[in-house]
Amino acid sequence: MNQNSKIALSFDVEDWYHTPAITGSSFSFYRSVDDFFENWKGEYDCLSDGFHYLIDLLKKHDVRATFFIVADVMDRYPEVVRALKNSNHEIACHSLHHTSAIDAKTKKPFQAMDVWEKELILAKQKIETVFGMKATGYRAPNAYFGKWMVKLLERNGFLYDSSIAYNSMYNKTDVSLKNVPSVPYRMNAGDLSNVNADSTIVELPWSYLKTGPFYLPGGGAFFYRALGNSYFNILLSQCLKMGDTMFYIHPLDFSNTDIPLSNNMARPMYWINKGYKTRKMFEKFIIRHKEKFATCRDVYSRFISLN
Ligand SMILES: [Zn+2]
Repeated sequence: MNQNSKIALSFDVEDWYHTPAITGSSFSFYRSVDDFFENWKGEYDCLSDGFHYLIDLLKKHDVRATFFIVADVMDRYPEVVRALKNSNHEIACHSLHHTSAIDAKTKKPFQAMDVWEKELILAKQKIETVFGMKATGYRAPNAYFGKWMVKLLERNGFLYDSSIAYNSMYNKTDVSLKNVPSVPYRMNAGDLSNVNADSTIVELPWSYLKTGPFYLPGGGAFFYRALGNSYFNILLSQCLKMGDTMFYIHPLDFSNTDIPLSNNMARPMYWINKGYKTRKMFEKFIIRHKEKFATCRDVYSRFISLN
């Protein structure tokens, strides 16, 4: 048992229209965020109330975390940017417009690789200009991760990624993942594994629950809202025995604003327990694990110092 293991606590700052059913994927209703704003005439902000709840909660319990921000959020939510600037949290990159990097079905690049890299550079520059700090961490939108991304992250100054969700239910990468640990590891750009690492990128993989031959999803967000603290407390205590691990959720998961979905966009089950129910669980979760939480950058630094 590793008594000192940490949980990298992370939040993906995006709104409901960034989800793949609405924009930025091969099956989305609008092709892109720009397309959404050209055609959408209603209210769009379901992010702010959950975000401000969250940032106040972290302050109340004196917990630092990493916020992976979609760069276009900075154009439309000045109060979110202001609150993050006034905080001591780490800011990391969650792409320019939350476009999936690979196609959900074919696993081929959804964006051309040069377009993907151009957007990555723009997003990184934008975050660094606004927040006056180096953005060294990356998380792929919707966790869709292609092996070709590793070397592009490396050459654009990223130090770590946190997108690999290993489990027996789905695989959002373009390789057949085998035995990915729940602890940080240096990545092999050929198969995204921890064997024969040939990149400088350190992966902070998502937590999972191993039960018999099965690996059940962890990570957070939808699974956290659906399965709650009991499931995640078991899962995290198992992962912490191995070493440092990862938890993530969205400010959007804490929002009490109704998502303005029309019938043809609706995925009612997906938003289960959003808002008050998740807020109630999450404060207990924060109190229980308070001493274990760290930023992703801190967990990355622990890995570097030990390896
Ligand atoms: Zn996201």
